[in-house]
Amino acid sequence: MNSETGPTGPESEVRPWRSRTRLIHGDGHAAEPHGAVAAGIPLSTTFLRDERGELRSPFVYARTNNPARADLERRLAEISAGTEAAAFASGLAAANAVLQSLDAASRVLLGRDLYFGVKQLFRVAGTRAGHRIEEVDWSDSAAAKTALAKPAALVWAESPSNPELKIVDLAQLATLARGAGAIFVVDNTLATPLGQAPLALGADLVLEACTKAIGGHSDVTVGGLIVRDQSLPLWARVRELQNLAGAVPSPFDCWLVIRGLSTLAVRQREAVESALDLATQLARNPAVERVLYPGLPSHPGHAIAARQMTHFGSLLSILVRGGESAAARVIARVRLWSRATSFGGVHSLIEHRYLVEGVGSRTPPNLLRLSVGLEDPRDLREDLEAALRSD
Ligand code: PLP
Repeated sequence: MNSETGPTGPESEVRPWRSRTRLIHGDGHAAEPHGAVAAGIPLSTTFLRDERGELRSPFVYARTNNPARADLERRLAEISAGTEAAAFASGLAAANAVLQSLDAASRVLLGRDLYFGVKQLFRVAGTRAGHRIEEVDWSDSAAAKTALAKPAALVWAESPSNPELKIVDLAQLATLARGAGAIFVVDNTLATPLGQAPLALGADLVLEACTKAIGGHSDVTVGGLIVRDQSLPLWARVRELQNLAGAVPSPFDCWLVIRGLSTLAVRQREAVESALDLATQLARNPAVERVLYPGLPSHPGHAIAARQMTHFGSLLSILVRGGESAAARVIARVRLWSRATSFGGVHSLIEHRYLVEGVGSRTPPNLLRLSVGLEDPRDLREDLEAALRSD
């Protein structure tokens, strides 16, 4: 199912609602008492039983499930063309649920360029749990074929990747992963469900760090896992761990993410347009060695990205001419861009990833990561160009 034409809403027999509409209305299940148009936040941690001990609703206790989380999970599943979703207290808590769901001594293959935190989680906790963790450059299809000639339990990819914006042919990797008997997880955080539909390309599970563009305002940490087929045996373990380990978001956090979803389409449209414009301008700047952005035709993964994405995202990286010290000088000189980690929010952020990642980082020392927000793109460009000037 294409995310543009999803299932029919409850009262629209005639034509299916499009994704932007569904982001606002959900699937129509969230019937509010008093006819409230905006979703409320049911905060109760516990739910009534009647005299016979029967529950009045599907809810028992908030960690196990609650109305706000169930609403968010339905919306995430729906917009991602999945059958079910599970929400966690952060993107990493969601990744950890996958890790903890593996059989003992599993062979785990991670993309070489991957969000540092996910990589560290698998390296530290995965290795401690006895799994064999390997890294493969999924943008190199020969390397992918060699790695998946042997059986594996889990294949984990990001496309576009963070922070090098590498592109992976997701349909091709899905076929290879299936051949190796592996569960294929795609971290879709940079693209968002509106920019790319990995489940439709053959992924088994998708991770969305809602902390980023979905939440959209840098004020909530939530992670979502979405499954293509809820009968996947690992999914039952993920669900079990959601309750057993309890790394769940609060109802208020779920509500913030639901609110973020309702404006995702317009925020993304603006931010992606600004990012493409900025990338194009920076590619002509003599102080910039290279711009890493899949929307540029010069990007090695551009053709694949154009095929499998509906937009190229609002994150880009630049390699500053002159090495680490030149990059440090640029970041010290910006006035409008906020020097902070993260991405996908309304504020534009700039970060020297190599310094932040520290020991074990493979990120080029002269890389600056730029998260394009919703400020006037002319201000963003002028500020960065002034910081890049050598005077
Ligand atoms: N996936 C990607 C691509 C990320 O960049 C991040 C965080 O930066 C995460 C997952 C983890 O999300 P969270 O910070 O909510 O744990």
